[in-house]
Amino acid sequence: MSTPWHVLGAGSLGTLWAARLARAGLPVRLIVRDVTRLRSYEAAGGLTLVEQGQASTYAVPGQTPDNPEPIRRLLVACKAYDAESAVARLAPRLTTDAELILLQNGLGSQDAVATRVPQARCISASSTEGAFRDGDWRVVFAGHGFTWLGDAGHPVAPIWLDDLEAARIPHEWSTDILTRLWRKLALNCAINPLTVLHNCRNGGLQEHHCEVATLCAELAELLQRCGQPAAAENLQQEVERVIHATAANYSSMYQDVANQRRTEISYLLGHACTVAARHQLNLPHLNQLQQRLVTHLHSLGLPSD
Ligand code: NAP
Repeated sequence: MSTPWHVLGAGSLGTLWAARLARAGLPVRLIVRDVTRLRSYEAAGGLTLVEQGQASTYAVPGQTPDNPEPIRRLLVACKAYDAESAVARLAPRLTTDAELILLQNGLGSQDAVATRVPQARCISASSTEGAFRDGDWRVVFAGHGFTWLGDAGHPVAPIWLDDLEAARIPHEWSTDILTRLWRKLALNCAINPLTVLHNCRNGGLQEHHCEVATLCAELAELLQRCGQPAAAENLQQEVERVIHATAANYSSMYQDVANQRRTEISYLLGHACTVAARHQLNLPHLNQLQQRLVTHLHSLGLPSD
């Protein structure tokens, strides 16, 4: 029998992955927070994925973190701020050859997880797929996209990419995953905080061209300084392209704030500012953006970390 996929976190991406793996007949287990959540999940009868208006339910077996079953392949689908503590609870269950796939946006959480479980191979992912929850244990597949996977310390692709093929999860093994993650972080830093502060859709930033350009220049400087020159190439052009192509959309940070949810700021803009400080790089506009965003989040009673 093939190695089971343990999926940690039954949110949007966790459900999207678990449902597709289960649909392909692969063994999947869903790890939820605690017994209360497990009872709620079991009462629902499985995970429901809504795709092109069609809902399908998959009876993926659920378990709590203290289930004794060993874990060899773990998909970490929590938010960046939950990943380290959620994985730490599972550390005693990881086999000596365990592999973790980290779906978190931004940077910082991947290193924190890897430090917690030094025996495991940690593979980072960068995804353009989009999904959202429209109920408990129910997820809408909103945007088809692509997932790049890679391991900065070990370029050889894992054998389980075949499972992703079987599950029809569009993916590619990347030998420059760090560059991809930095590029995505820079795009996020140039767009998402401004959409929150200007209270607008992505397209609204077309009216703040100079502010965006100044941020792009500082972000490019940061990418150069931390050894990611490829991620800095034509950054402003791509930011402008994304603003134009997604003009009608609300950014993920905008949506988090609008729904009174904690943002992943520490792993996005916060991470950029921390790394700049570590390199003694003075990026006044980026720092000011961070301060404005923190003040704004506090004024709404939201966490700023
Ligand atoms: P989400 O819907 O909030 O799901 C996170 C899940 O993690 C929740 O179900 C939460 O449980 C669970 N969780 C947290 N701590 C846990 C623990 N200790 N044990 C078990 N479960 C735990 O988040 P998401 O939208 O899927 O995002 C996950 C990551 O993917 C983020 O970094 C995000 O930026 C990135 N991402 C998301 C998308 C997207 O379209 N959604 C696209 C690209 C990247 P509860 O249900 O109990 O709260």
